[in-house]
Amino acid sequence: MKDAKQDTVIAHAGRDPDANFGIVNPPVYHASTVLFPSLAALEASDRAPFDGVNYGRIGTPTSSAFETAVAELEGGHRAVVAASGLAAIATALSAFTKAGDHVLVTDSAYGPTRRFCNEVLARYGVETEYYDPRIGAGIAGLIRANTSAVYLESPGSLTFEVQDVPAIAAAAKAAGAAVLMDNTWATPLFFKPFAHGVDVSIHAATKYLVGHADAMLGLMVCNEESFLAVKRTAVRFGTCAGPDDVYLGLRGLRTLSVRLKRHQETALILAEWLAGRPEVERLLHPARPDHPDHALWRRDFTGASGLFAALLKPVPKTALAAMLDGMELFGLGYSWGGFESLLLPVHPAAVRTATAWAEAGPLLRVHAGLEDPDDLIADLERGFARLNAAL
Ligand SMILES: *Cc1c(COP(=O)(O)O)cnc(C)c1O
Repeated sequence: MKDAKQDTVIAHAGRDPDANFGIVNPPVYHASTVLFPSLAALEASDRAPFDGVNYGRIGTPTSSAFETAVAELEGGHRAVVAASGLAAIATALSAFTKAGDHVLVTDSAYGPTRRFCNEVLARYGVETEYYDPRIGAGIAGLIRANTSAVYLESPGSLTFEVQDVPAIAAAAKAAGAAVLMDNTWATPLFFKPFAHGVDVSIHAATKYLVGHADAMLGLMVCNEESFLAVKRTAVRFGTCAGPDDVYLGLRGLRTLSVRLKRHQETALILAEWLAGRPEVERLLHPARPDHPDHALWRRDFTGASGLFAALLKPVPKTALAAMLDGMELFGLGYSWGGFESLLLPVHPAAVRTATAWAEAGPLLRVHAGLEDPDDLIADLERGFARLNAAL
């Protein structure tokens, strides 16, 4: 769709009703074996297995529909689906590293990303060095002759630092290193990685793309230069995803824009209310003017999703438990991006090495769901009352 606006792409990308009895949505193909009409056809497919339908693991019309739709929305060349966000991260990092290489990973990265680097890449002779997420162009000082990849996550999903993606990407590119970015927070809607120098944009599609807390799914969206390396590595690892889960990703995508607008609006309402509470030390939300990276967020992003954090003043754990144990609407659990609100105590100090997290109070990560904000505020207000009563 040439020149179509984002919401139009979301509604139409990856669909071809004319090829499918006029039915609006692409069918869910459950497939392992693909039959060929002749030896010549089989051999032709084997020569270009990534371009047609060759074997279920390598891709089906269902996975292609999802990959095509997200790549088009994000401005990438092609995408590769995976069974989870973490599988996508592991596959993408593996695609650009070999024994003897050095990778630079932001200190704000998702914890399991660090564990993959420290426990798996390390065993294969790849050295990971963590860098200050706010390093910007200063990353050039850390790049070595053997640096093969620079990994970003912006904003960090616990501490919400916004990275200077164009400056970091330019320095990495000048040194010939691949630029990989976890773009889960912003989704393909609110940040355009390829317009900012990124080679591979990684999504935990589990979060906002699926959007209903009912499937695990990952995606690597690639520019033209990175696609073959990523796809080949995915195929070597056997990286793929179940067709019903891929379908849920594609179905979720169709409403991504309307859902995110509401997640964004409610998150800002909750953050503003929390900022006025005496129990709160400060808010970590890039779209608020009091955030240290707000100017960078304004420069590069076109919106904010529903995930942010509130740093509380120090309280005993029993008081925090009194608050969290009694929440009626906010769930206590991992993941985010679904229609339901979540509240989770997070511990950045445990997953940082290049920078310090020295805050004394608990950090509460908030996912603003699609409930009425007044009811969410009332739930938080009752929560703070329980916290104060337990002091
Ligand atoms: C959840 C998450 C992941 C991992 O996704 P899964 O689908 O749970 O494996 C990766 N990055 C970020 C920022 C996440 O929040």
